[in-house]
Amino acid sequence: MQELDTPTFRLAVAQFDQAAEAMELDTNLRERLKLPQRSLVVSLPVRMDDGRVEVFTGYRVQHDSSRGPSKGGIRYHPDVNLGEVAALAMWMTWKCALAGLPYGGAKGGVSVAPKSLSAGELQRLTRRYAAEIFPLIGPDKDVPAPDVGTDAQIMAWIMDTYSQQVGYAVPGVVTGKPLSIGGSLGREEATGRGVVYVTLEALRHLNLPVETATVAVQGFGNVGSHTARIMQQQGARVIAVSDVSGGLYNPKGLDLVKLMSRDLNQPLHQTKLGDAITNEELLQLECTVLVPAALSEQITGKNADRLKCRILSEGANGPTTLEADRILADKGIFVIPDILANSGGVIVSYFEWVQDLQRFFWSAADIQSRLQDIITSAFHRTLRFSTERRVSMRMAALMSGIDQVAQAHLQRGLYP
Ligand code: GLU
Repeated sequence: MQELDTPTFRLAVAQFDQAAEAMELDTNLRERLKLPQRSLVVSLPVRMDDGRVEVFTGYRVQHDSSRGPSKGGIRYHPDVNLGEVAALAMWMTWKCALAGLPYGGAKGGVSVAPKSLSAGELQRLTRRYAAEIFPLIGPDKDVPAPDVGTDAQIMAWIMDTYSQQVGYAVPGVVTGKPLSIGGSLGREEATGRGVVYVTLEALRHLNLPVETATVAVQGFGNVGSHTARIMQQQGARVIAVSDVSGGLYNPKGLDLVKLMSRDLNQPLHQTKLGDAITNEELLQLECTVLVPAALSEQITGKNADRLKCRILSEGANGPTTLEADRILADKGIFVIPDILANSGGVIVSYFEWVQDLQRFFWSAADIQSRLQDIITSAFHRTLRFSTERRVSMRMAALMSGIDQVAQAHLQRGLYP
C-alpha cells in the first residue's frame, strides 16, 4: 500500500517476511498480516496561544485484534507518519503475543514537536486528538498508552476526554495514567525495568558477571533513564548516556542521580558530569551492554560493523535494520530484540488495565515480581526456540509471536 511505504514500515514488513518464510506461514494469512486491520488519519485544528488556529495531523492504526483489544502507545514527534505508526502497530501485535498478553497491536501518533507547545496548546491538541479517535478506542476495543513524546499527563487528558463523552469515569481506556485516576504502581519505570530483567538473564547466559559489566544507553527519556538507573542499582557501571543534543561519557561510571535530577531543559553534555560525545560515538563505545533507547533505524549497515558491545538490548522499537542484523550476527553480538527487550512497558500496561477493570489494585512488589516472571520466561522461551531452530533471537521472537497470532486467525476463521 503506497500510503504506508516508509523506511520504518519497510523494515517491519521485511522482518515479518523473513520470519513468515522461515516458519512457512499460510500464504493467505501473510498477505493480511502485512497490512494493518484499520487505519484512521485525523486533522486536528488547535487554537494556539497567539489566537491562530494550527492544523496538525494525527493517526491511529490497529494492526490486529484477533486475540483481544488492540494495544499500543501514542507518539508525539515531528517525523510521525502513517507508515511509521503502522510499523509500530505491527510490532505491538508480535510483542503482545510473545509475552502472552490477550491483546492485538495498535499505535497512534501526532506529527508535532511537543516541546514547542505551551501546556495549554498541548492539552487542547491532545483532547482534540482523543475526540477524533474516540470511535476507535475503549477498554474492550483499543487501549492507548504513552510512547515517545507523551506521558501520564497526556493519558489523563485522553481518559478525561473519553469519560466526558460517555458520561462516567472510564480508567481502562488508557494505561500509563497518573495513580490518582487508576494508574498502576511501577508503570512509569516498567519498560526500563523489563530491559534490565532480560539483560540480567542474557549476562547470566553468557557467564558475564553484572558487577564487571559496563553499559552505554542511547536516549535518556523514559526508557533510557530508568534502564540506566536500575542497571546501576544491580551493580553494573553505566559509562555513557545520550539524548538528542549529544552524549556524556565517563569510564568510571556516571552519577545518574545527579543526571536524573538536573533541570530537564539543560542538555546532558552541559552538566559537566563526563566528557561530551556524539550519539554516533556512543554506539561505538567498547562496553558489555549497549541499549538503544531512542528512535528506530539507529544501527544500520553503515555503523553496525563498528559496534563493540557484547549484548545489544533494544529498548527502542526498531532500532536495528536487517542489514545491521546480519553484521551483528557475524560479529557474535547477542541481540535481545525490541519486541522482547522493551515489552515490560506493555506488560505493566496490561496489569494496569486488569486492575482498572477489576477495581482492585496491587502492590509495587506484586507488580515487579509478576513483570519479572512474564518477561524472564519470554526470554528463556525465545532463547530455547533460537537454539533449537538455529535462528537469531530476533527471528525466534518474531516467529513465536506471529505463530500465536496465526493460530488465533486460523481458529477463528475468515469472516464472512
Ligand atoms: N509505547 C510502549 C511500547 O512501544 C508501550 C505500549 C503500551 O503500554 O500499550 O511498547
